[in-house]
Amino acid sequence: MPVLCMVRPSVYSHWCEGCQACHSFNVHELSRDGHVLGFDGDLDRPSIGEPVRHEQQDGRLCEYLLRGGVLYYLESCSHALAGQSRALIDCPH
Ligand SMILES: [Zn+2]
Repeated sequence: MPVLCMVRPSVYSHWCEGCQACHSFNVHELSRDGHVLGFDGDLDRPSIGEPVRHEQQDGRLCEYLLRGGVLYYLESCSHALAGQSRALIDCPH
């Protein structure tokens, strides 16, 4: 089982333990700094070049780096895993 699922071409999703939800990202999306996210194409041990930011409708924030299949949550996250890291688990889809 890969840890990333392709939702549609160039859009991938993964499970987030901090949010207890799936996040999806578009590899052509831009980060806040205006850089393309830069996914390396590895579905088993993925890396993304830029920090990924997910803002929920209720104002909660999840922000992380993804390197070699490990999520490094930034301190800015609203959830309990802020500042911690977690290996991605198999995509539940
Ligand atoms: Zn999250």
